[in-house]
Amino acid sequence: MYKTNVVKVGDVLIGGENPVVVQSMTDTYTADIEKTVQQILALHRAGSELVRITVNDEDAASAVPEIKQRLEQVGCFVPLVGDFHYNGHTLLTKYPECATALAKYRINPGNVGFGKKKDTQFAQIIEIAIKNNKPVRIGVNWGSLDQALLAKLIDENVAKENPLPLREVMHKALITSTLESAKYAEDLGLAKDKIIISCKVSEVQDLVAVYQQLAKQCDYALHLGLTEAGMGTKGIVASAVSLGILLQQGIGNTIRVSLTPAPNAPRTEEVRVCREILQNLGLRTFTPSVTSCPGCGRTTSSFFRVLTSEVKDHLDTKMHEWKDVYKGVEKLKVAVMGCVVNGPGESKNADIGISLPGSGESPVAPVFIDGKKVYTLRGDNISKEFIEIVENYVKNKYGVQCQ
Ligand code: SF4
Repeated sequence: MYKTNVVKVGDVLIGGENPVVVQSMTDTYTADIEKTVQQILALHRAGSELVRITVNDEDAASAVPEIKQRLEQVGCFVPLVGDFHYNGHTLLTKYPECATALAKYRINPGNVGFGKKKDTQFAQIIEIAIKNNKPVRIGVNWGSLDQALLAKLIDENVAKENPLPLREVMHKALITSTLESAKYAEDLGLAKDKIIISCKVSEVQDLVAVYQQLAKQCDYALHLGLTEAGMGTKGIVASAVSLGILLQQGIGNTIRVSLTPAPNAPRTEEVRVCREILQNLGLRTFTPSVTSCPGCGRTTSSFFRVLTSEVKDHLDTKMHEWKDVYKGVEKLKVAVMGCVVNGPGESKNADIGISLPGSGESPVAPVFIDGKKVYTLRGDNISKEFIEIVENYVKNKYGVQCQ
């Protein structure tokens, strides 16, 4: 485990021994206050503990205080992070209420300003952060890396007797840009515990290599994410693989999964994936888990898939009310299995499990509770009866502590 500073963003603690924080980003036009508020609410309800919003123009900057106010009116106090590029110094200066309403500023050293203006504009933002007591994420992104720095490092590398592969020079440029910018922010007076850094790339092996070096070279809290991960299965797998490797090594204090949503797909999918990554690594527990087999030639009907889906949907839906009433219910483990081969074994390992009859088996479904066979279900109501058994188990096991 790498030791890092702890950064407070609103009421959320990032870094040190604190649990890895889930965050997300809206894709609404921020100045569309209604749409932005609704999407922040959806992301927060899905489990996002910080939500980042684009602040790219004057309309967006002037909308931020009202967005925050409207969220608070409906009881949502999720910290808002402002994402600034090119004109952050101007917007934060001209809209001080925006600077106050945001819980954190994200700036990118690669496009905070160009040429001689770069340092002064960067300094302007840092000074506003200091004045408002706000943390800053210094977030370098491969797609907007400081080109002057990259060119300088490439020239220096070429002049070496044994030049490094170009890929390694690029990694070095990313890390150097991040750490030099963070050091500059500290020199300007921003406390170390107000700085989070990130160094995002879009290839799994690059991300792993860069963050492994970053974690060794500094103790800033690390925001971790594979940028531009892509759409659907590709994006989910690439994010899970890269974040999984690094988190397993103790690298990363807050994560974001940068999925391209499919047309009409909910933005909240990126939050769901973050939570699944953390829960499957055993780093956090958010919601009851359902163990189910893939099914095979022994699975007699589509009922096995239907039951698995119904149980999962039921648990996800009920969790919204259960989490406030039944302490610890998120640790519940349910198994839905397709036949006798692995069904009883997995069912006994879960808190509650059902083993459906495979082909050639007697048409009965044994239900195991805490490792013991307690019921045998049969007939057309298996789904309803099993869900009732799960409900009763939750009430009996997790309800007692709250009385
Ligand atoms: S538990 Fe049975 S139905 Fe499920 S994959 Fe294994 S053999 Fe197939």
